[in-house]
Amino acid sequence: MKEVDVVELVKNTEIFKNCKNIVVGRGNLDADILFVGEAPGRNEDEQGLPFVGAAGKNLDRLLGKVGLISDDIYIANILKCRPPENRDPLPDEIRAHTPWLLKQIKEIKPKVICSLGNYATKFFLAQCDVDKMDKQPGITSVHGKVRMIEIDDLKIKLIPLFHPAAIIYNRALTEEWEKDMEIVKKEISQKNLF
Ligand code: URA
Repeated sequence: MKEVDVVELVKNTEIFKNCKNIVVGRGNLDADILFVGEAPGRNEDEQGLPFVGAAGKNLDRLLGKVGLISDDIYIANILKCRPPENRDPLPDEIRAHTPWLLKQIKEIKPKVICSLGNYATKFFLAQCDVDKMDKQPGITSVHGKVRMIEIDDLKIKLIPLFHPAAIIYNRALTEEWEKDMEIVKKEISQKNLF
Protein backbone atom coordinates (compact mmCIF):
# COMPACT_ATOMS: atom_id res chain seq x y z
CA MET A 1 0.00 0.00 0.00
CA LYS A 2 1.32 3.47 -0.86
CA GLU A 3 2.14 5.89 1.97
CA VAL A 4 -0.64 8.25 1.03
CA ASP A 5 -3.11 5.39 1.36
CA VAL A 6 -2.17 4.43 4.92
CA VAL A 7 -2.35 8.06 6.03
CA GLU A 8 -5.67 8.54 4.28
CA LEU A 9 -7.08 5.44 5.98
CA VAL A 10 -6.28 6.99 9.36
CA LYS A 11 -7.62 10.38 8.34
CA ASN A 12 -10.91 8.82 7.34
CA THR A 13 -11.62 7.59 10.87
CA GLU A 14 -13.76 9.50 13.36
CA ILE A 15 -11.01 9.52 16.01
CA PHE A 16 -8.75 11.49 13.64
CA LYS A 17 -11.29 14.32 13.62
CA ASN A 18 -11.16 14.63 17.40
CA CYS A 19 -7.41 14.29 17.94
CA LYS A 20 -4.77 17.02 18.05
CA ASN A 21 -1.93 15.03 16.52
CA ILE A 22 -1.35 11.81 14.64
CA VAL A 23 1.12 9.87 16.80
CA VAL A 24 3.39 7.96 14.43
CA GLY A 25 6.21 6.69 16.65
CA ARG A 26 9.51 7.56 18.27
CA GLY A 27 12.95 6.04 18.73
CA ASN A 28 15.55 4.51 16.47
CA LEU A 29 14.36 3.40 13.04
CA ASP A 30 17.38 1.04 12.89
CA ALA A 31 16.52 -0.64 16.20
CA ASP A 32 16.21 -4.43 16.48
CA ILE A 33 13.30 -4.12 18.91
CA LEU A 34 9.93 -2.58 18.17
CA PHE A 35 7.52 -1.94 21.04
CA VAL A 36 3.87 -1.71 20.08
CA GLY A 37 1.36 -0.19 22.50
CA GLU A 38 -2.37 0.39 22.23
CA ALA A 39 -3.22 4.01 21.48
CA PRO A 40 -2.07 7.54 22.35
CA GLY A 41 -3.40 9.06 25.56
CA ARG A 42 -3.86 12.74 26.40
CA ASN A 43 -0.15 13.63 26.70
CA GLU A 44 0.76 11.69 23.58
CA ASP A 45 -2.03 13.43 21.66
CA GLU A 46 -0.77 16.82 22.79
CA GLN A 47 2.90 16.17 22.03
CA GLY A 48 2.47 13.96 18.96
CA LEU A 49 4.74 11.29 20.45
CA PRO A 50 3.94 7.86 21.91
CA PHE A 51 4.52 6.95 25.55
CA VAL A 52 5.37 10.38 26.94
CA GLY A 53 2.77 10.36 29.77
CA ALA A 54 2.62 8.25 32.92
CA ALA A 55 2.78 4.94 31.03
CA GLY A 56 5.76 6.23 29.05
CA LYS A 57 7.62 7.30 32.17
CA ASN A 58 7.08 3.84 33.59
CA LEU A 59 8.24 2.27 30.33
CA ASP A 60 11.43 4.38 30.32
CA ARG A 61 12.08 3.43 33.95
CA LEU A 62 11.52 -0.26 33.24
CA LEU A 63 13.77 -0.14 30.18
CA GLY A 64 16.45 1.62 32.21
CA LYS A 65 16.38 -1.18 34.78
CA VAL A 66 17.41 -3.67 32.11
CA GLY A 67 19.97 -1.32 30.59
CA LEU A 68 18.01 -0.14 27.55
CA ILE A 69 17.45 3.46 26.43
CA SER A 70 15.01 4.93 23.91
CA ASP A 71 17.71 4.83 21.24
CA ASP A 72 17.80 1.02 21.48
CA ILE A 73 14.19 0.69 20.47
CA TYR A 74 11.39 2.09 18.34
CA ILE A 75 7.90 2.58 19.81
CA ALA A 76 4.59 2.82 17.99
CA ASN A 77 0.95 2.03 18.68
CA ILE A 78 -1.89 0.04 17.18
CA LEU A 79 -3.91 3.28 16.82
CA LYS A 80 -2.31 6.49 15.56
CA CYS A 81 -4.93 8.77 17.14
CA ARG A 82 -6.27 9.10 20.67
CA PRO A 83 -9.72 7.56 21.18
CA PRO A 84 -12.07 9.88 23.12
CA GLU A 85 -11.67 9.48 26.90
CA ASN A 86 -9.03 6.82 26.19
CA ARG A 87 -11.72 4.25 25.45
CA ASP A 88 -10.72 0.87 24.00
CA PRO A 89 -9.90 0.71 20.28
CA LEU A 90 -12.78 -0.43 18.05
CA PRO A 91 -12.26 -3.19 15.46
CA ASP A 92 -12.87 -0.78 12.56
CA GLU A 93 -10.32 1.63 13.97
CA ILE A 94 -7.74 -1.14 14.30
CA ARG A 95 -8.51 -2.17 10.71
CA ALA A 96 -7.97 1.37 9.45
CA HIS A 97 -4.89 2.26 11.53
CA THR A 98 -2.78 -0.91 11.41
CA PRO A 99 -1.84 -0.78 7.71
CA TRP A 100 0.37 2.17 8.74
CA LEU A 101 1.88 0.10 11.57
CA LEU A 102 2.55 -2.77 9.16
CA LYS A 103 4.24 -0.36 6.77
CA GLN A 104 6.46 0.81 9.65
CA ILE A 105 7.33 -2.80 10.46
CA LYS A 106 8.38 -3.42 6.85
CA GLU A 107 10.63 -0.36 6.99
CA ILE A 108 12.15 -0.97 10.44
CA LYS A 109 12.51 -4.74 9.95
CA PRO A 110 12.70 -5.43 13.70
CA LYS A 111 14.06 -8.77 14.89
CA VAL A 112 11.82 -8.64 17.94
CA ILE A 113 8.39 -7.10 18.49
CA CYS A 114 7.34 -6.56 22.10
CA SER A 115 3.58 -6.18 22.14
CA LEU A 116 2.43 -4.17 25.16
CA GLY A 117 -0.88 -5.33 26.60
CA ASN A 118 -3.86 -7.14 25.15
CA TYR A 119 -4.65 -5.21 21.97
CA ALA A 120 -1.19 -5.27 20.42
CA THR A 121 -0.64 -8.87 21.53
CA LYS A 122 -3.92 -10.14 20.12
CA PHE A 123 -3.35 -8.27 16.86
CA PHE A 124 -0.06 -10.07 16.24
CA LEU A 125 -1.24 -13.44 17.57
CA ALA A 126 -4.16 -13.17 15.13
CA GLN A 127 -1.63 -12.76 12.31
CA CYS A 128 -2.80 -9.17 11.91
CA ASP A 129 -6.36 -10.31 11.11
CA VAL A 130 -8.63 -8.10 13.22
CA ASP A 131 -11.55 -10.54 12.92
CA LYS A 132 -9.49 -13.20 14.70
CA MET A 133 -8.35 -11.03 17.62
CA ASP A 134 -11.26 -11.99 19.87
CA LYS A 135 -10.25 -15.64 19.85
CA GLN A 136 -6.68 -15.02 21.01
CA PRO A 137 -5.46 -15.70 24.56
CA GLY A 138 -5.02 -12.75 26.92
CA ILE A 139 -1.75 -11.19 28.00
CA THR A 140 -1.80 -12.91 31.41
CA SER A 141 -1.34 -16.31 29.82
CA VAL A 142 1.09 -15.38 27.03
CA HIS A 143 3.41 -12.71 28.48
CA GLY A 144 7.09 -13.58 28.20
CA LYS A 145 6.43 -16.43 25.77
CA VAL A 146 8.46 -16.11 22.59
CA ARG A 147 6.95 -17.13 19.28
CA MET A 148 7.81 -16.56 15.65
CA ILE A 149 5.47 -14.51 13.51
CA GLU A 150 5.68 -13.65 9.84
CA ILE A 151 4.80 -10.28 8.43
CA ASP A 152 5.17 -10.38 4.66
CA ASP A 153 8.51 -12.10 4.22
CA LEU A 154 9.89 -10.92 7.59
CA LYS A 155 10.35 -13.49 10.34
CA ILE A 156 10.02 -11.75 13.67
CA LYS A 157 10.08 -12.91 17.29
CA LEU A 158 6.97 -11.77 19.13
CA ILE A 159 7.37 -11.31 22.88
CA PRO A 160 4.18 -10.15 24.60
CA LEU A 161 4.64 -7.96 27.69
CA PHE A 162 2.25 -6.46 30.21
CA HIS A 163 1.27 -2.89 29.34
CA PRO A 164 3.40 -0.44 31.38
CA ALA A 165 0.26 1.48 32.39
CA ALA A 166 -1.28 -1.68 33.85
CA ILE A 167 1.66 -2.42 36.11
CA ILE A 168 2.52 1.04 37.47
CA TYR A 169 1.43 0.29 41.02
CA ASN A 170 1.72 -3.49 40.89
CA ARG A 171 4.99 -4.79 42.26
CA ALA A 172 4.33 -8.44 41.35
CA LEU A 173 3.58 -7.58 37.72
CA THR A 174 6.58 -5.27 37.56
CA GLU A 175 8.75 -8.20 38.61
CA GLU A 176 7.15 -10.32 35.88
CA TRP A 177 7.89 -7.52 33.38
CA GLU A 178 11.53 -7.46 34.38
CA LYS A 179 11.82 -11.23 34.01
CA ASP A 180 10.17 -11.00 30.60
CA MET A 181 12.61 -8.26 29.58
CA GLU A 182 15.53 -10.55 30.42
CA ILE A 183 14.06 -12.91 27.81
CA VAL A 184 13.90 -10.01 25.33
CA LYS A 185 17.53 -9.12 26.02
CA LYS A 186 18.61 -12.72 25.58
CA GLU A 187 16.78 -12.93 22.25
CA ILE A 188 18.38 -9.79 20.83
CA SER A 189 21.85 -10.70 22.03
CA GLN A 190 21.84 -14.04 20.17
CA LYS A 191 24.20 -13.72 17.22
CA ASN A 192 22.32 -15.92 14.80
CA LEU A 193 18.78 -14.93 15.47
CA PHE A 194 17.43 -17.00 12.62
N1 URA B 1 -0.46 3.87 26.18
C1 URA B 1 -0.24 3.35 24.96
O1 URA B 1 -0.60 2.21 24.69
N2 URA B 1 0.39 4.09 24.06
C2 URA B 1 0.82 5.32 24.31
O2 URA B 1 1.41 5.93 23.41
C3 URA B 1 0.58 5.86 25.58
C4 URA B 1 -0.05 5.12 26.51
